[in-house]
Amino acid sequence: MHCPFCGTHDTKVTDSRLVAEGDQVRRRRQCVACGERFTTYETAELVMPRVVKGDGSRETFDESKLRAGMLRALEKRPVSAESIEAAVERIRQTLRARGEREIHARDIGEEVMHALKRLDQVAYIRFASVYRRFQDIDEFRAEIDRLAQEPSFRPDDPQD
Ligand SMILES: [Zn+2]
Repeated sequence: MHCPFCGTHDTKVTDSRLVAEGDQVRRRRQCVACGERFTTYETAELVMPRVVKGDGSRETFDESKLRAGMLRALEKRPVSAESIEAAVERIRQTLRARGEREIHARDIGEEVMHALKRLDQVAYIRFASVYRRFQDIDEFRAEIDRLAQEPSFRPDDPQD
């Protein structure tokens, strides 16, 4: 989303709610570069591709479901609401940037894991253990080992 004042790409969502009986999403945004605030309205079709579930059925992308899944993993973790909101927005943008009309639910899951990995190690493991359905403690341990070999986790950087 371009800032209409200075044209920069880097804007953050400060509030997001459904309007017009759920057909539109109203977003309050703030430009990271110049600090100006503005509001955007997006219709549901434009917001996101349809989601193809594991059984082949389709459903409308549900941002609140995405957020709820992340919040569950992040429960009682030291991650700010703002960081979580920024991560949700980034996932939305990533999925939308694919330019596809449909997107597989598992791809969304992968994006969530990617986001959680940057936000909080414990939340990532919580989510991954459910999402990837670790069969036993060895798989779990293998994932932890993989994590340990990656560059150190750092607090989420919205500029990145
Ligand atoms: Zn601006």
